[in-house]
Amino acid sequence: MNLSERKLLQKRQRLLAQITELNLLLNASYLERFSTCVRPQCECHKGKKHGPRAYLSVYREKRQRQVYVPQPQHDTVQLGLRQYQQLQEIVKAITDINLQLMRAGRLSETGEQQKGGKRHE
Ligand SMILES: [Zn+2]
Repeated sequence: MNLSERKLLQKRQRLLAQITELNLLLNASYLERFSTCVRPQCECHKGKKHGPRAYLSVYREKRQRQVYVPQPQHDTVQLGLRQYQQLQEIVKAITDINLQLMRAGRLSETGEQQKGGKRHE
């Protein structure tokens, strides 16, 4: 293994380690809207809607689902949305590294990943 390949593998390891720090990530889109509540007598049903309230739009089982964001969680949710962007950047960077390795014929399951001593038989 030459020096540039070693550097690529080290960079890939750093990127993989960064992923483990993205524990708040949210693959969702943020939106704010006015809404009605469940109380039938509430003014919101006569036009004075509540809000704007924050929601996350999440895609599940071929459908968009909106999940209410409680006010005290707003800042953390913003961080989680940014972390998902970071994850996408890391995925792109790892892809670029793996493409370089592939072109050199060096993309393989062995190498830096074998630290634990486990092998695929
Ligand atoms: Zn209401």
